[in-house]
Amino acid sequence: MENSPGQSAGLKCPDCGSHIPTTIEVLLHNAAIFCSNCGLKLTIDRQESKSGLDKLRNLDEALQKANKVKKSFS
Ligand SMILES: [Zn+2]
Repeated sequence: MENSPGQSAGLKCPDCGSHIPTTIEVLLHNAAIFCSNCGLKLTIDRQESKSGLDKLRNLDEALQKANKVKKSFS
């Protein structure tokens, strides 16, 4: 099943403004999420957020803990 665009949980890419669909479960189980449009990598500071993530019920709270990381090619 697909969620309706614009209705699904997620965040707005800080770089290109694209919607990045994600869920609290994704944030809890993945160290990073990626913008499908520009490839921006958003990482969750799991060490910092470990205790907080256990309590998180609001996706926005988790996203506030996300760190913007530029995708880089070496
Ligand atoms: Zn983007």
